[in-house]
Amino acid sequence: MNNPDLKQQVDSRRTFAIISHPDAGKTTITEQLLLFGGAIRQAGTVKGKKTGNFAKSDWMDIEKQRGISVTSSVMQFDFDDKRVNILDTPGHEDFSEDTYRTLMAVDSAVMVIDSAKGIEAQTKKLFQVVKRRGIPIFTFINKLDRDGREPLELLEELEELLDIESYPMNWPIGMGKGLEGLYDIDNERIEFYRPEQYEGERFVKLTNGEIAGDHPLKEKSIYEDVLGEVELVREAGDQFDLEKIERGDQTPVFFGSALTNFGVETFLERFVDLAPKPHAHKTETGEAVSPYEEEFSGFVFKIQANMNPNHRDRIAFVRICSGTFERGMDVMLGRTGKKMKLSNVTQFMADARENVEEAVAGDIIGVYDTGNYQIGDTLYEGKLKVAYEELPSFTPELFMKVTAKNVMKQKSFHKGIYQLVQEGAIQLYKTYLTDEYIIGAVGQLQFEVFQHRMLNEYNAEVVMTPMGNKIARWIDPEQLDERMSSSRNILAKDRFDQPLFLFENQFAMRWFADKYPEVELKSLM
Ligand code: GDP
Repeated sequence: MNNPDLKQQVDSRRTFAIISHPDAGKTTITEQLLLFGGAIRQAGTVKGKKTGNFAKSDWMDIEKQRGISVTSSVMQFDFDDKRVNILDTPGHEDFSEDTYRTLMAVDSAVMVIDSAKGIEAQTKKLFQVVKRRGIPIFTFINKLDRDGREPLELLEELEELLDIESYPMNWPIGMGKGLEGLYDIDNERIEFYRPEQYEGERFVKLTNGEIAGDHPLKEKSIYEDVLGEVELVREAGDQFDLEKIERGDQTPVFFGSALTNFGVETFLERFVDLAPKPHAHKTETGEAVSPYEEEFSGFVFKIQANMNPNHRDRIAFVRICSGTFERGMDVMLGRTGKKMKLSNVTQFMADARENVEEAVAGDIIGVYDTGNYQIGDTLYEGKLKVAYEELPSFTPELFMKVTAKNVMKQKSFHKGIYQLVQEGAIQLYKTYLTDEYIIGAVGQLQFEVFQHRMLNEYNAEVVMTPMGNKIARWIDPEQLDERMSSSRNILAKDRFDQPLFLFENQFAMRWFADKYPEVELKSLM
């Protein structure tokens, strides 16, 4: 049943996300990659702060004010017979849940590191999520045009802090003002930073690891130093091992400078070659569905408000896991058992030049949504009947009581809350007996975005009363006894009516655990 055409198409897909600490250069490198690819299609905004095309959505004022990115988007381009899908992730850690879900939809990740700063807090956190998924990780050490740390030291840090083997694909020749170029170990050549200083030649081939004949670079002392370092890492370092890379146990390391577009193309060429094609996706039962399976299936990993404030519809981003998407096709929405027609889809992904009518496993499609989809939903065609694994959800730590300021606006208040909850922008709870609304978040900024969007998109002014930090723990409904509620905790239910306690602090939780040893207290992630 494998259709050779489908296989060929699927195999050409490279779907990945870039992870980094804010300011390491994720946006800059993304834009360079898009340039190389001719940026054929894009969905969502490509970072408004740089391209100036995001002022379309008013709630993103918050993002503008703070100069951070709250949104994610999908960008697609073709390069070297490959179709590349870059999934962008928000930089601010208050939206890390969003990032985590996006990482469930990719086949590999690129980690961008600032050469002067090394591995920073958020890089480490995100790295661990990627590592847990066991997908390949590629490293780009950025900002070589500035003085940074020694390359050897950076590789050591990778191994020590992240516990991953590294294999340098190239090696910097100098840095900052003294940057001469890259020793491209992988391609046995030197790439010059300022080719105009070397008779315009950008690349010089190496013979037995050296430049043949006379060359002005050979006169500089850095030349010998670099030959020595490269020999050292070749002999004493880890050996290139594709299997380890595929398991995420070794990371190929590239050096470069995104801002000056140096080393980015070399990176891209090797990346599309080494990065994995779409893999089989696991379902709830632990079985996996082959991407070459003819029938379409996929899951919703992100829901985003439409960029256009005049239309309040949303976009559900679907990662295709098997088969082919065709415009207008009917699929089943597993959770509800409802049939859905996927008609208003690919236009969104395409720019004026090309209209995508078809997408295959590995691709991401944006489905217009009027409130039918939720994060984690599986869509499938025909008899496939699969349910993909649940997406990670964080245990919120911050809580607010929330009410509508204007009682006449209850309807829009409820609509707004439910839609934002479905989007995964915020989590919703109610007090168990009195049904008062409580919203939960991982980061404070989520509340601000919530308040802003409620007003701007649903015309509902909300009053939020901080409840501060709480420890949320779910319990088995069968074990619930309302008398367990005390002044040190709040008994609540989540949006699926499952009971949980919001404990004031660790002490209150331990007291509870001692008093009710038979009750298991469960957290999310
Ligand atoms: P993000 O927060 O990771 O998306 O980082 P950006 O791409 O927005 O970059 C943060 C800052 O670093 C910006 O001012 C960039 O111009 C700058 N930057 C990015 N790449 C380089 C580089 O290769 N060299 C230098 N000198 N600056 C860079």
